[in-house]
Amino acid sequence: MTHTAWLDALSRQLGPQGLWRPGVEADAAQLHAHEVDWRGRYHGRALALARPASVAEVVTVVQACAAQGVAIVPQGGNTSLVGGSVPDGSGQQLVLNLQRLNQVISIDAANLSMVVQSGCLLSQVQAAAQTEGLLFPLSLASEGSCTIGGNLASNAGGTQVLRYGTARALCLGLQVVTPQGQVLDGLSALRKDNTGYDLRDLYIGSEGTLGIITAASLRLHPQPRGVATALLACEDLSQAVALLQMAHHHLDAGLTAFEVMARGPLALVQQHQAPAAAALSPLLDPRGAPPEWVVLIENTSCESDAHAQERLQLLLTQAMTLNLTQGVVVATQTRQRQQMWQLREGIPQAEKCEGLMVKHDIGMPTSEIPRFVTEVGQALQARWPQSQVVCFGHLGDGNLHYNVQPPADARQGLALEDFERAVNTLVFDAVERCQGTLSAEHGIGQLRREELAQRASPVALQMMQAIKKAIDPAGLMNPGRVLR
Ligand SMILES: Cc1cc2nc3c(=O)[nH]c(=O)nc-3n(C[C@H](O)[C@H](O)[C@H](O)COP(=O)(O)OP(=O)(O)OC[C@H]3O[C@@H](n4cnc5c(N)ncnc54)[C@H](O)[C@@H]3O)c2cc1C
Repeated sequence: MTHTAWLDALSRQLGPQGLWRPGVEADAAQLHAHEVDWRGRYHGRALALARPASVAEVVTVVQACAAQGVAIVPQGGNTSLVGGSVPDGSGQQLVLNLQRLNQVISIDAANLSMVVQSGCLLSQVQAAAQTEGLLFPLSLASEGSCTIGGNLASNAGGTQVLRYGTARALCLGLQVVTPQGQVLDGLSALRKDNTGYDLRDLYIGSEGTLGIITAASLRLHPQPRGVATALLACEDLSQAVALLQMAHHHLDAGLTAFEVMARGPLALVQQHQAPAAAALSPLLDPRGAPPEWVVLIENTSCESDAHAQERLQLLLTQAMTLNLTQGVVVATQTRQRQQMWQLREGIPQAEKCEGLMVKHDIGMPTSEIPRFVTEVGQALQARWPQSQVVCFGHLGDGNLHYNVQPPADARQGLALEDFERAVNTLVFDAVERCQGTLSAEHGIGQLRREELAQRASPVALQMMQAIKKAIDPAGLMNPGRVLR
């Protein structure tokens, strides 16, 4: 069957809201948002956009694609930072967007769990848990746009991993439509289940290459009763790492976030997102010298705000006594706390205003981070004195966003490609020396596929290829992502 006749047949099954064919149900502008990634780096062209509103419709689409040999690109909120959720330029891949599967199915407060469809926005999932006085702690700057299905498919991290773990730790079970169009019903709400291989864990982080996540059973937590947040100035990352170690001992499970931001990204937020910057503490007072590094620390308590503040204050006092910080500001109102977070979460948007950067979301043992940042910073300065490092991230998780702004003469075309290749080699060689990972958060997608192929252990790669072949023998699920 020709693709046109095949699409006509699919359209009859899904209706005009369920399938957008270019130039038929949707114009170029409507499709554009689904064909270009968040960073504006990958520009694809879709054969069509499927928008199923039920699991049965997902099955219909997947079975039709399997029969016709059409590749599928699963898509949630399309906030992937590695080009995982947009089609290639061939015009032959079908984008399957899950955002119409957006129902909260149930909340079991006694079991601390909930079941949601995969197209629910992360913010919607958080709000639904909150209505029951519970917490779904996954928290990302993109939470108003990304979906829980995308979070699970990319095993998202965010700002509370230190206390609650990544998306994987927050998932009890999954419903998945396999590449053959069968429904794998694993919406278990169990905390313990040792019956064979863990298929849920296989799908978490699989980036749409093994099937479509249609619903998830999620682990909830009690809402903390108190929270205390502070910004601290540090001279260098060794100080920040020593502070982190002290915070673990003083706050234990209360420590929910330990974020770090260098002077460079703070300046970008000030430049591009003035309201958040205006809220900044005297730490960043324009009359004083801005600190080299700022730590954002958050402590929660199951008792009260006063208790959370008291515990944090003890830590801060000791840190000042031991000279581990050059200045501290504690948020005294919710508004101040929000502004502190805007400062941290405004960085990706502020970076976007600066144009393309060579981005990394590396991970390594926290103890290695100061050495890594010093050595790589020196190497970059020696080779490209005009480049700028924009470094920030989840220090508490050993995860840094280590982004490099190219010098003016290498900002486009081949010069940018050469610069990116050389910087990546330098950064990832150093990551390997520190026993780290080339992606702690954003995943592989298209962006890191070649590096994974070059740098992962051959045994691990063979096993990944074998799993892909076993589950998706026709190679129709997000081809060219993660694996070559
Ligand atoms: C401003 C900003 C801040 C961010 N901060 C963080 C952060 O702190 N931590 C972090 O980990 N990430 C972060 N990210 C990236 C992050 O991965 C996503 O925001 C989010 O997890 C992706 O969800 P999504 O619904 O947008 O998925 P998409 O971008 O649509 O897809 C992501 C991947 O999952 C696949 N996929 C999507 N839905 C499904 C499904 N239902 N079934 C199977 N496969 C699917 C896609 O094919 C793709 O490979 C950030 C992104 C932005 C833009």
